[in-house]
Amino acid sequence: MECPICKNTRGFACGTCIECGYNYLDNTYHFIEVRTELLERLVSPEVFEYLVAEHDKWKKKWWLNILEANIMRKEWFDKLNQYDFEEANIIYAHDLRPYVYNKTLLYGYTCERETFHVYIKNEQIYVVVYNNDYSTDRIKPKNMRQIKVTSNRDYVPDKRLYPERCDYNFCKLLKEKGVHLPFTTWSEPVEIDLEDPRYPYYGFTLEDVEA
Ligand SMILES: [Zn+2]
Repeated sequence: MECPICKNTRGFACGTCIECGYNYLDNTYHFIEVRTELLERLVSPEVFEYLVAEHDKWKKKWWLNILEANIMRKEWFDKLNQYDFEEANIIYAHDLRPYVYNKTLLYGYTCERETFHVYIKNEQIYVVVYNNDYSTDRIKPKNMRQIKVTSNRDYVPDKRLYPERCDYNFCKLLKEKGVHLPFTTWSEPVEIDLEDPRYPYYGFTLEDVEA
């Protein structure tokens, strides 16, 4: 697009040439710029002073409008006070893209010696706490509860995490958000057992609770 008047190709604002002020949509000038030395020669000193004063007023008002539009308003202030930084900062499964397949994210235990398991299932992160039931030949979860996450700290158990069973990318994200990860000492990675009822996770999931 080229201005039909001044041939400017730099740009238009709603049809108005930013160079000469001509609007090609309604074929009028939305602004004209005049050099003051030329204007002084064209009009009387009174008219010249009047035009300069009007221009001055207009420009100051234009700037004032911008300032006023950005002054803090009561409703913005209320919104600011209600803004929950912790909640806005929560990590979701999509933050782990492209690594959002079903897997354990964190595995550890609480001060009550219960298992703490954070995992992804169908592109959603879950946090569960439970006891392990060894009373039969097949290990089962007991008294499983789901934890509602309202801050990233809810992802981390109050006692320890087993580093070799945690997910690197998730741990990195938590650290970036300033969350402390209480790792215990490093053990050799556990071998994957296809017969383990928890497979492909290191811990149990909500679906493992017997109905
Ligand atoms: Zn133009």
